[in-house]
Amino acid sequence: MGAGAEVYIGLGSNLADPRRQVLRGIKQLAGLKGYTPLASSSLYQTAPVGKTDQPAFINAVASGRYSAGPRELLAGLQEIEKLAGRVRLQKWGPRTLDLDILVFGDLVLEEAGLSLPHPHMWQRAFVLIPLAEVAPGLVIPRWDMTAAQLLQRMEPDMLAKQKVVKV
Ligand code: AMP
Repeated sequence: MGAGAEVYIGLGSNLADPRRQVLRGIKQLAGLKGYTPLASSSLYQTAPVGKTDQPAFINAVASGRYSAGPRELLAGLQEIEKLAGRVRLQKWGPRTLDLDILVFGDLVLEEAGLSLPHPHMWQRAFVLIPLAEVAPGLVIPRWDMTAAQLLQRMEPDMLAKQKVVKV
C-alpha cells in the first residue's frame, strides 16, 4: 500500500501496435516515482470519433496511489508519452500514446493546462467503460456519479458511435 491520492489514468493509442503501446504505457506508469499501481482494466477497441479516417484505438484505464501532486503526475505522463513517440514516430507524426489524468483523489480543479476530473470523460464511453470495470463504486467528483451512471446518461448514438468492445 502506498500513501497518497487514489488516481485513475486513461490510456489510448491508435498507431504503431496500439496494444503494445498501451500495455507498455501501463508498465511505465507503474514505474513512475511515487506511483503505486492498484489495478488496470481490460483492453478495449474503440472506433475513432470525429476524425474517422484513422485506425481504431486501443483504450484502457489504470488506477494507483500517487504520493505527489497532480502537476508532477501530469509531467510523468508526458514523459511516458514522449518516450512512446520518440521510439516510434517521425518528427511531426501523431503521438502513439495518450495518457490523461481522469481522476486525482477528490480534487476538482480548472487551471491552465490541467482540469480535474478530466473534463471530457463524461462523454467518452472508451473511458467510462474501462473505468466502470476497475472502479465500479467510484463516485467521480464534479459529477458526483459513478462511471456506470454517467454511461447511462450518455446519448445512445454517442455511445453507439464509439463501438467500444473488449479485446
Ligand atoms: P491531449 O493530448 O489532447 O490529451 O491534450 C493534452 C493537454 O491537455 C496537455 O497539454 C495538458 O496540459 C492538458 N490537460 C488538461 N487537463 C488534463 C488532464 N486531466 N489530464 C491530462 N492532460 C490534461
